[in-house]
Amino acid sequence: MSDERDLPPKMRRADQNGAQKAPPKPLPRPQDPVEREFWKRCQDGHLYFQRCGGCGRFRHLPRYMCAGCGSPEFSWERSSGKGILFSWTITHQALHPAFADEIPFVAAVVELEEGVRMATRLIDCDHERLELDLPVEVDFELIGTDFRLPVFRLCER
Ligand SMILES: [Zn+2]
Repeated sequence: MSDERDLPPKMRRADQNGAQKAPPKPLPRPQDPVEREFWKRCQDGHLYFQRCGGCGRFRHLPRYMCAGCGSPEFSWERSSGKGILFSWTITHQALHPAFADEIPFVAAVVELEEGVRMATRLIDCDHERLELDLPVEVDFELIGTDFRLPVFRLCER
């Protein structure tokens, strides 16, 4: 196969001397108070989704109005953190250098028990074992010293 030196600099791994030290993973940069609230709530180690005050539907991504009934009323409800693997792909290219040491990794969409779908990464899994609807549960990856990013792992059956 090709030598790693053939790769663009941003895709090379750090060498043993740390000559190409990977930068930290980028953090979400929410632009909006309701997005900020979602990420802030993740920091206690649980997922929370908005639940419509009109029709009771859960929703994600965070927004101000229910796509089902149009109500602006909502509350934040703690998720079970459990769901199924809805879709996935194996990513072989690091589009950001912070992920270079993790390729190949699984970019996934999971469907939570509350009915919402969420784009995420599936960690610590055998890529050959993946199939639709496998049960998954949330975990949190620590980014930097204090930011918890929701990721998912397969549940033992
Ligand atoms: Zn609604």
